[in-house]
Amino acid sequence: MKNITILGVTGSIGQQTVDVCLHHQDEFNVVAMSAGKNIVLLETTIQKINPQVVCVIDEKDCNYLQEKYPHIRFVFGSAGLDEIATIDQVDIVLNAIVGFAGLLPTIHAIESKKDIALANKETLVVAGHIITKLVKEHGVKLLPVDSEHSAIFQSLQGNEMNKIKRILLTASGGSFRDKTREELVGVSVKEALNHPNWSMGAKITIDSATLFNKGLEVMEAKWLFDVDYDQIEVLIHPESILHSAVEFEDTSVIGQMGTPDMRLAIQYALTYPQRKKLVNGKSLDLTELGSLTFKKPDFNRFHALSLAYRAGKTGGSLPCVLNGANEMANLLFREGKIEFLQIEELVEKAMNAHELVKDPTIDQLLDIDQWARDFVLKEINETCRRL
Ligand code: NAD
Ligand code: MG
Repeated sequence: MKNITILGVTGSIGQQTVDVCLHHQDEFNVVAMSAGKNIVLLETTIQKINPQVVCVIDEKDCNYLQEKYPHIRFVFGSAGLDEIATIDQVDIVLNAIVGFAGLLPTIHAIESKKDIALANKETLVVAGHIITKLVKEHGVKLLPVDSEHSAIFQSLQGNEMNKIKRILLTASGGSFRDKTREELVGVSVKEALNHPNWSMGAKITIDSATLFNKGLEVMEAKWLFDVDYDQIEVLIHPESILHSAVEFEDTSVIGQMGTPDMRLAIQYALTYPQRKKLVNGKSLDLTELGSLTFKKPDFNRFHALSLAYRAGKTGGSLPCVLNGANEMANLLFREGKIEFLQIEELVEKAMNAHELVKDPTIDQLLDIDQWARDFVLKEINETCRRL
């Protein structure tokens, strides 16, 4: 029996993790969970799982829930997140919080020797240099939940002794994969949120449309698999069937395929190195598909991808700036305050204005993340004033 903490339980990954755990109750015991503001969904989840400790963001929600469910312990805020990420009896923390907010809980969980099933890619983007060291120091496992990275991880099983020549990181291309740059002018939030292959949280769906998501994943792959940026090749693969692949020195390419279902990657991270039945999993019928297609991304059309390679190759604090500016610009777009193409424009401006810190500490990253968000807000306010 594995004891689990699920961070971000009310999100898209969090809810799919709950499904996986309920399907394998003889394997997994969810001890603790965290949520943001969706208290209705949190209550439904509590009733299904009956955890021992639950963390929410607001004290008010915490007090309300404590009164209603006196047999459960409720905690709140960042201290609460720390508490549930470090509970003694917990073996593995699945981090499905979205954004920079997932960083500190990951660090605290590693420091208390928990294995990490990581969906929160932003953790590795901003602090890969710190996380990889901590993982080694504390002897814990860092298991990818992102489908592409799970595919790479699966492709590497039995090949740990062999050098990676290249990683082929596949991308669906997002909601606007068939649009030209000109056609991206004035696209709506609703259109951007309509992902062709995956149903995911709002932030990552917009990131898929800009291709910042793939850019973040390039950086995530660098840290997870210890490769150079010129060994990571992004391929547009609209069918989302080959979830990614690895080429070895002998030119053999090993990849992982399957119907698009995040529960597989979640479950593999939790059951690794074993494989268990995926309840209601759909088998892949290659003859039904007939063909799979791949093409190189157009770096002018997908400028976000160029920005991500630049941030990754430069290293230091630049990925943190890209990430913080993107989180803010992504939110402003969803709130209808900026245009779609302004997202990458604002991220680039923030990157250009930033004074690089070579080997940032956690405290510096917290400041730099805030600086990048404030920079984007200031830019928008100034533009509004000028108009
Ligand atoms: P989501 O928006 O659906 O859920 C996010 C969760 O985090 C919610 O439970 C929310 O309450 C919580 N949360 C948000 N802000 C918080 C904060 N400040 N403090 C504490 N909790 C907070 O997001 P998602 O789509 O499930 O994605 C979660 C993470 O997994 C992201 O990093 C994303 O990039 C990654 N990921 C998601 C998918 C997917 O299919 N959804 C696939 C691969 C990777
Ligand atoms: Mg992914």
